[in-house]
Amino acid sequence: MAALEIEGLDVQYGGVHALRGMSLTVGEGEVVALLGNNGAGKTTTLSAASGLVRPTAGTITFRGQDVTRARPEAIVAAGLVHVPEGRRVFSTLTVHENLQVGGYLVRDQAEVRRRIERVYALLPRLAERRAQQGGTLSGGEQQMLAIGRAMVTGPRMLLLDEPSMGLAPLVVASVMELVREVNAEGVSVLLVEQNAKAALKIAHRGYVIENGRCVLAGSAAELAGDSRVVEAYLGGV
Ligand code: ATP
Repeated sequence: MAALEIEGLDVQYGGVHALRGMSLTVGEGEVVALLGNNGAGKTTTLSAASGLVRPTAGTITFRGQDVTRARPEAIVAAGLVHVPEGRRVFSTLTVHENLQVGGYLVRDQAEVRRRIERVYALLPRLAERRAQQGGTLSGGEQQMLAIGRAMVTGPRMLLLDEPSMGLAPLVVASVMELVREVNAEGVSVLLVEQNAKAALKIAHRGYVIENGRCVLAGSAAELAGDSRVVEAYLGGV
């Protein structure tokens, strides 16, 4: 059974046809990169999967369950968790409080405490800064906190929107390493990235989206070696 299956998805914003028959599959345990230019429809794909925008056609299936018209809270509760672009940590809450927000929908508070300790074990820099306000962290630390907060919800799969945005290359590498570690804990990942090079280093497979539909799919190695991908997304040869 696939983790996520998107089939023939159409999304319109007023007159703008953002997705036109978008399809992709993420297998259980996979990291799948979704590459494409500005405005291609990457964010819209994630927003549809997390119930934030309503498709006009197509289906979204998460672990065998049709979630096409499910409410965002139900989708999070099913284990599909969106980490939006721009990090959006609560700047006046401490690191620890930000992580506790991830446990808001979880009944078992002892389990929330265990998950937060697990995040601190993965991210010792956050553990050192647990009493510091979110807004005072560096961009990379805020991105890691946003992913850590998503982990506290107990996800089976993460939808990550441009986690490398605005970060220095070394910091991008640490964020990608965190994504790899999260995946090693059994969490499937759909990774939207403009930074194709960084994404294809950790992805198993990838898709290229143009004008609201997938135009290319393959293993990460195939895509990294495809002349169209190299030219459009890897800065030429
Ligand atoms: P980016 O990397 O710039 O976010 P993207 O590939 O994620 O690009 P989307 O954000 O999904 O692309 O946008 C797809 C299309 O839908 C674009 O033409 C965009 O202008 C349009 N669009 C996105 N959100 C809205 C909205 N809320 N209202 C109207 N049009 C929108």
